Amino acid sequence: MSDCIFCKIAKGEVPSYKIYEDEDIFAFLDIAPNNYGHTLVIPKVHTETLLDTPDETLAKLISASKKLAKAVLEATGCKGFNLAQNNFEVAGQMVPHIHFHIIPRLEDDGFKFWPVKKYEKGQPEALIEKIKSHL
Ligand code: 5GP
Ligand code: ZN
Repeated sequence: MSDCIFCKIAKGEVPSYKIYEDEDIFAFLDIAPNNYGHTLVIPKVHTETLLDTPDETLAKLISASKKLAKAVLEATGCKGFNLAQNNFEVAGQMVPHIHFHIIPRLEDDGFKFWPVKKYEKGQPEALIEKIKSHL
């Protein structure tokens, strides 16, 4: 898409710290890293979220992310990473071009987990029936 920042980065029209590129995939450093080495992996063809991205593209994206995560871990010496992927604005997606975040994690980085809820009696049963009816 012509006004998409990540399409422009993939085409080299906007500069980035490129780590990897092949026919379908482009990977570069996040401009505002949660930890050093925070990497973004994108398909070159524009789609917005997980939901409108073809399975074939997703397969390439996850495969490249796996390879890159291993390299990022080895390079940074971090012992773990989060593979994150936000869908739609309400979930924190700021750039509407699908991307995986590889976020290297440190034991003392202080990142907190999200708050958890508790199910009421009967709620999980009703919920799974509803979800299954949409499959
Ligand atoms: P989202 O919130 O959409 O999942 O994540 C978008 C990510 O893209 C953010 O972490 C943000 O720092 C990064 N980002 C946004 N614009 C640019 C840019 O122009 N260059 C680079 N390298 N990263 C960007
Ligand atoms: Zn795009």
